[in-house]
Amino acid sequence: MKYIPYRRCVACHSSHPKNEMIRLAKLADGSFCFDETKKSGGRGAYVCNNKNCIATAVKKNAFHRSMKTKVPSQYYEMLSALQEDI
Ligand SMILES: [Zn+2]
Repeated sequence: MKYIPYRRCVACHSSHPKNEMIRLAKLADGSFCFDETKKSGGRGAYVCNNKNCIATAVKKNAFHRSMKTKVPSQYYEMLSALQEDI
């Protein structure tokens, strides 16, 4: 069985298998993306793939705090939109 690393959620601060989470990555060119393959490099932060954590992350600007860099509000809007698919 393959080892699955755990990552800490920026919203609830508990750890979960990273393949169950949404990762926001900051790319080398300074842009951001939600990284579904979890394979892009650069700094990343994770949030649980559930409504509560996504809502908390949006409300608290949790990615901003975790990544110590300003995350444009459009990414929080994209994140809010993602949760509707769940
Ligand atoms: Zn969480």
